[in-house]
Formats: sequence, structure tokens, C-alpha cells
Amino acid sequence: MTRLAQPPTSAAEGKPDLPRINHWIGGERVAGTSGRKGPVYNPATGELAREVDFASVEEVDAAVKAATAAFPAWRATSLSRRTEILFRIRNLVDQHRADIAAFLTAEHGKVHTDAMGEVARGLENLEFATGVPHLLKGSFSEQVSGGIDVYQIRQPLGVAAGITPFNFPAMVPMWMFGNAIACGNTFVLKPSEKDPSASVYLGELLKEAGVPDGVFNVVHGDKVAVDAILEHPGIASVSFVGSTPVARHIYETGTRHGKRVQALGGAKNHMVVLPDADIDMAADAAVSAAYGSAGERCMAISVVVAVGGVADPLIDAIKLRLPKIKVAPGDEPGAEMGPLITREHRDKVATYLDSGPAQGADLVVDGREHPLYQDGKGFFLGVSLLDKVTPDMDCYRNEIFGPVMEVVRAESYADAVGLINDNPYANGTAIFTRDGGAARQFQFDIDVGMVGINVPIPVPVAYYSFGGWRNSLFGDLHMYGPEGIQFYTRAKVVTARWPDPGTSKVDLGFPRTR
Ligand code: NAD
Repeated sequence: MTRLAQPPTSAAEGKPDLPRINHWIGGERVAGTSGRKGPVYNPATGELAREVDFASVEEVDAAVKAATAAFPAWRATSLSRRTEILFRIRNLVDQHRADIAAFLTAEHGKVHTDAMGEVARGLENLEFATGVPHLLKGSFSEQVSGGIDVYQIRQPLGVAAGITPFNFPAMVPMWMFGNAIACGNTFVLKPSEKDPSASVYLGELLKEAGVPDGVFNVVHGDKVAVDAILEHPGIASVSFVGSTPVARHIYETGTRHGKRVQALGGAKNHMVVLPDADIDMAADAAVSAAYGSAGERCMAISVVVAVGGVADPLIDAIKLRLPKIKVAPGDEPGAEMGPLITREHRDKVATYLDSGPAQGADLVVDGREHPLYQDGKGFFLGVSLLDKVTPDMDCYRNEIFGPVMEVVRAESYADAVGLINDNPYANGTAIFTRDGGAARQFQFDIDVGMVGINVPIPVPVAYYSFGGWRNSLFGDLHMYGPEGIQFYTRAKVVTARWPDPGTSKVDLGFPRTR
């Protein structure tokens, strides 16, 4: 048994020495030296539970140096050996699912079942990465000209970096590092400073799995660490997941510094309900997808687009379901929805419950009436429902990222499609209908990266790739799956002729193939 960090159990406000979360560099915990740190809260109690080191430019450089030093041996490690290590990583993460989930509940606040679901989806990405010998097969063309063969191989980039958001502290890093290291790269992760413990724990698991020191590193921090990554000449690529303004900054700054960048941004996901849909099924789906993880999912449904006469019965069905949702601390048995990540974020979400009605929406259910919001200790907000929302309202124009479902009433299918295609975000969308022809037309018409047909959260499985369009993704390649392998490798084309002195002659003409 390895010396694994203990999942956090209690908050520690008022204690003189709060537990400190350190960097993970060169295969060991490294205490920060910058003198800068950040708070890590238990969102269910509102207490300051831990502190996290914030890296300086020099500390980021130390992580990049460790990754750079590890790269030559790692890229030369045979595919069979890398695969063996990836299988061990997969098995250790599988074995420690509950330990990882405990970190997520303690620092993010998500309920236990949701945290276990996050780990399970991340694990599927690691399982995909174990197929790397097959995924890295190149192509070969024999006899492109007399005695000449051409083949393409895919090689790692070098040091790859990942910068990840608070809402999936384990899964999003697993979207990235499994494929990155499987392809022979080394990796520097800058996780969210709000819930950073899971990333260091994963570092310990990777070490136990046999990942050589320096192949996987974690530096914590804020904009200082992020900008140091973006500007570091030793980093070849940056994978980012987070909000749209930061994603744009990452893409523009990273590419300006010559890096390959994929930057996934925010979302405003619409679920269209056509008049022929099964109302109960649509209501169950909308409620699950809007309030799961307290709405802090980039694939959460934030807008239900009720077409024609479906709005009133649908809202009635949704309203029936809301009082039954158990809002409670994530580690409480039966909890279905936990708190939000910080008090500041919770209060920002709540502002839309004022601005929406002020701009003409109906506040059908107000989450501020929930007792856990009222008692004010943790960062809780009950579920909220806004009806008669229109595209000009602030609550529609912004990504709320909280437990607020908005209903927009559309007269026709064409209006619903127009609304979605005009939105600056285009991460996910869904349609609920019993009409196969309408669903197929929607899949054809809609300008969004991930589409669900009677599936409210269409997150692609690990062997497809994840990504939105427009302001939900900056870059050319989507994340994980086959496009992830493409992102973490570059192609080299070799043209080869083996000596045949009998045909050798000087020829200054342009190379011919026929
Ligand atoms: P965020 O953009 O605030 O932070 C993401 C990362 O960027 C963190 O590591 C953070 O430290 C860093 N960062 C924050 N501000 C920065 C700045 N000014 N300069 C440089 N770096 C900075 O996002 P978040 O609040 O952690 O996560 C929620 C957001 O992420 C939502 O917008 C959500 O939609 C989005 N998200 C998108 C996807 C997707 O796949 N498209 C998935 C998950 C989350």
C-alpha cells in the first residue's frame, strides 16, 4: 500500500495551522516557496478547511524542468511498457474511486453519488488511453515511386500542460493526462485553486503505478502560474477547460507563444421540448440535468425551450418534482444536490433571481427560500425556476452556472432552432420528441458541438471527442478520444528509398512520382 494522502474529513477554521496543499514536482510533494497561497473551503459548512500553495514563475519553471528532464526516457519507453503502466494507473484509480470522490465532496461540495460519477467518467478516459498502441499506428504507402515508400508516424510533442476548472477536479485532468502521457509526452497540470487536493492524490497514484518521476507534475496557483505556463518556452501545448473569457485569453496568449492550444469555454445549453414529447420523461430529464451538481456542469441544461403548447404542462410537471430534491451536504446519505463552490459564486447566481423578474421573467420557484440558504452557513442555494425568460434578459445572456432553470417559450421548432443557433455559446443541446424525423432534422440544423436526442447531457463517451462550437471552444481539436490523441502528437512523414546503386544518377528535376 502506498503512502496516500488521507481524504479530508473535517474543516479546521480557527486552527492556527491549516493543512497545506503542496505542489507535486518530480514525483514528490514540494512545499511552495513563493509566500503566496489561497483558501480552500468546505462549501457545505462555509469553513476554511485548507490552504493551497500558489506557484511563482520560478516554481512553474521547476515543474517544466522536471517534465523536460523526464521526456527523453519516457518517449523512448516502449509502447508495451507504457501500456502496462497505464493499466496500473487505471486499476489504482478504480480501486481508490471512493477516496478520490471524498476529496471532491469535501472541496467542491458535490454529493457522493455525483462525485463517484465524475470519477467513473474520468476512469473511462484512462481506459481509452490503455489502447494507445493501436491509437498510435501510423500509415504506410509502398512503392509511391520506383523503390520508394512513404509512411507517417505520430510522435509526442514534449511537455504538455493542462489548466483545469473547479467543477470537475478529477475528471477533467483525467480527460487530459492519460492520453498525453500515453502518447509519450510529459505533463504539467495547473488544477483549479478552489479544489486542488484530488490532483495531488492522482499524482501519488501515478507514482505508485510506476510513472517515472517528472512525467506528471502539478503546480497550484492563479493567473501568475497560468501565465507562466502560457509564456514558458519549454511547454509545447496547453489544454484548457474553464470559462469563456479565460479560454480566449489562454488561446490567444498560448498560440502567440507558439504553442498548440485547445481551450474549452463556458456554455448555455438548451433543451428543446417539442409538443409531442413525453412530458414526464422531459420533466425528469430537465430537472436532473439542470440541478445535478447544483448546475455547476458545463453540460448542465440551463434553458428549457418549450415549443408551442407544451410549456404549461411541462412547467407543472417540473414544479411537482422540485420540492422532492434533497439539498444537503454532499456526504449526507441521500443528498441529491450540494452547495455551490464559494459564497461569492452563490451570491452572484442569486442576483439573477432579482434581475430576471425585474426584466420581466416569472420567478416560479425561489431557491433563496431553502432553509440551508436562510441559515447562511454553507454556500447553499435551493433550486430555482424562472419562466417566460427572453433572450434580452441578463439571466439568459450570461452563463449562470448554478441551480437555476430558465424556460423560454418558443412558438415553433424554427424559433427554437434560431434561438440556439444565435447564442454565442454552443457546447451542448438536446431535443425531446417522439418524432424521429424531427430529431434527425434537429441534428442536421443545429450549430452546436454535442447533441442529445432524448438525452439531456450528451457528454460523449471516451472513445469519441468532447467539445463545443463558437465561444465554447477555441482551437481546432476537441478534447479526449481520437482528437485528443491527435492533439498530443504531431505527424512526421518519412519518404524512404533503400540503396540500389544500379539505378542511382544525378537528376536536378523536381521529384516525380510517375
Ligand atoms: P475559470 O475560467 O475561472 O478557471 C479555470 C482555470 O483558469 C482555473 O485553473 C483558474 O485558476 C484559471 N484562471 C482563472 N482566471 C484566470 C485568469 N484571469 N487568467 C489566467 N487563468 C485564470 O473557470 P471555473 O470557474 O474554474 O470553471 C467554471 C467554468 O468552466 C464555467 O464557465 C464552465 O462552463 C466551464 N467549463 C467548461 C467545460 C467545457 O468542457 N467546455 C467543462 C467544465 C467547465
